[in-house]
Amino acid sequence: KKKIAIMTSGGDSPGMNGVVRACVRMAIHLGCDAYCIYEGYEGLVRGGDLIRKMEWHDVRGWLSEGGTLIGTARCMAFFERAGRLAAARNLIAHGIDAVIICGGDGSLTGADRFRAEWPSLIEELEANGEYTALQLEPYRHLNIVGLVGSIDNDLSGTDATIGCYSALARICYAIDLIEATASSHSRAFVVEVMGRHCGWLALMAGVATGADFIFIPEKPREDNWREEMCGIVEQHRKLGKRKTIVIIAEGAIDREGNKITPNMVKDLLADKKGLALDTRITTLGHVQRGGTAVAYDRMLATLQGVEAVRAVLEATPETPTCVITINENKIVRKPLMEAVQDTKKVAQAIENQKFDEAMGLRDTEFSE
Ligand code: ATP
Repeated sequence: KKKIAIMTSGGDSPGMNGVVRACVRMAIHLGCDAYCIYEGYEGLVRGGDLIRKMEWHDVRGWLSEGGTLIGTARCMAFFERAGRLAAARNLIAHGIDAVIICGGDGSLTGADRFRAEWPSLIEELEANGEYTALQLEPYRHLNIVGLVGSIDNDLSGTDATIGCYSALARICYAIDLIEATASSHSRAFVVEVMGRHCGWLALMAGVATGADFIFIPEKPREDNWREEMCGIVEQHRKLGKRKTIVIIAEGAIDREGNKITPNMVKDLLADKKGLALDTRITTLGHVQRGGTAVAYDRMLATLQGVEAVRAVLEATPETPTCVITINENKIVRKPLMEAVQDTKKVAQAIENQKFDEAMGLRDTEFSE
């Protein structure tokens, strides 16, 4: 019987449980044994009871649960060959040679590295005398498939990552709440949302709530951003608007690459002559990551989980490691490292202040 393991890694996102449920049940449906690796790569390296066989009923009710019920962790040991050797040993001890990983670009990079190194890890186990060549024969290749779990929607090559629409819904809900009180007191609110390298959440929340102004890393504001923002806010106020909402992504910067902070924006709105708005800052923080997955993320998690099991069973030693994406409403398999490298290019472009290039590399196009 083929044994397939599922794990979640990196930052948690709503929908990860839906992924685990779909993978476990699809694997069982296709006559395989399903395993969960608890605590991300930490569980793979430590083994023992962190690798558990799962039955159909073990994942009952998981579809709507937020976070990841099998845990996630950052694992330094997996950056080292010794850690990955321990991981290989643990997988073989359980008879597993197919792994599905749901995580961000770091986790997927680690997965691809592990798969590429696998043959030499197996040879090392044989050279150590831990297993004979005959025992290792069924484990010459490791098949890995990636799924993208992230609230930031920051992986290139997919229209949506699992969790991003839940986080967006939560941000919109929070801003709706803030708007009621802002309007009552005629106040301004600067709302900080997650997104160090990717402004998708801030951008889409801005569109969905009709915010007055947004700041995102890919499109740094020009030197005159102070005048520009105050001018727009003033104009909106003149039109009778009693509330001001400015959304700022964590990674917001200006053209010189200097950080733009919520405090800077607040001080400006409060101190600017003619505006002098009673301004508050709301940092949404981890509220954005918590809670149940919205319908879209449950659907994405389920359809992609099913596809991941198919992909891991169909993979051959020759096929490059794939990641399951969604493009124009179709679930698609793509070479994992291409998606990861394209993602890194965006971060690099922002770092090198090549902002137009960064915007061009993003899948979402918009104009002001
Ligand atoms: P997030 O988007 O939330 O940051 P991520 O998957 O990118 O998620 P990382 O912290 O980058 O999160 O990676 C998670 C784990 O994946 C690391 O702690 C490490 O165990 C493993 N990992 C990441 N990159 C590598 C790599 N190059 N080689 C081996 N393992 C890696």
